[in-house]
Amino acid sequence: MKIYKTITGMREFINKEEGSIGFVPTMGYLHQGHLALVEKARQENDLVIVSIFVNPTQFGVGEDYEEYPRDLKRDTKLAETGGADAVFAPSVDEIYNPDHGTVVKIEGITENLCASSRPGFFEGICTIVSKLFNIINPDRAYFGQKDAQQVLVVKKLVAELNFAVEIRTIPIVREADGLAVSSRNQYLNDEERESATVLYRALELAEEIINEGERRVEVVKEKISSLIKEETDNIDYIEIVKQNSLKNLSEIKGSVLIALAVYIGQTRLIDNLMLEV
Ligand code: AMP
Repeated sequence: MKIYKTITGMREFINKEEGSIGFVPTMGYLHQGHLALVEKARQENDLVIVSIFVNPTQFGVGEDYEEYPRDLKRDTKLAETGGADAVFAPSVDEIYNPDHGTVVKIEGITENLCASSRPGFFEGICTIVSKLFNIINPDRAYFGQKDAQQVLVVKKLVAELNFAVEIRTIPIVREADGLAVSSRNQYLNDEERESATVLYRALELAEEIINEGERRVEVVKEKISSLIKEETDNIDYIEIVKQNSLKNLSEIKGSVLIALAVYIGQTRLIDNLMLEV
């Protein structure tokens, strides 16, 4: 497997290879979720390229940009074992000139959920994803449903900026106890790791209540909230919205997304569940 740290090197590799390119953008510290994306890309393409880049522009003031786990050696081994042909791991300077001034901003679906508590987050994502798509020029790019809002944002970006790439998705990969796998899980101490299962338990509870016939958004949110509060008072959001637009629902009906962001200790974790009601 090849490792490229420069845009020129990455492009030279792409230009001399033939066949379809499947691209998996990541921030590294690879785990089973990332590897499931690589596996799907492997099945559907001739070449698989994984990017590893902790993108500074998607982190806000006071967020965990500095602490975010980084281990390129470990990541390249995992990417290779997972079946990648190349890793693109540029430095921040390679991607952003000191006077970098282009920001890609999408309106509409970047107003609630993660956008509310993380100003600039989706601008950072749209900017880096646009740049990476222009560097790699993939046929297909792979994203996880763990970041459900990100999937919608990226699909809108691709449609509206006419990128010739197909966006492919995979379901959330979970630990045995339901916790969604995440690079940030390694911030959790033993006690917090146990508490963290409350996100999945809350989603399961919501599903159960809805299956029993509850259709009132506020009632389901309230029950989720009470359960989560047994573990933490620091809830960023609990939202029950339309899957495709993230718009509010007057009642729980149709294609529904239940999305959570919760702090366990200092660690902000997200999770979600898609339901057809
Ligand atoms: P990240 O490195 O956290 O930016 O994630 C890179 C990609 O992996 C994104 O498309 C995420 O949605 C996806 N991903 C992260 N965790 C999971 C998971 N537990 N299940 C599925 N996809 C995931």
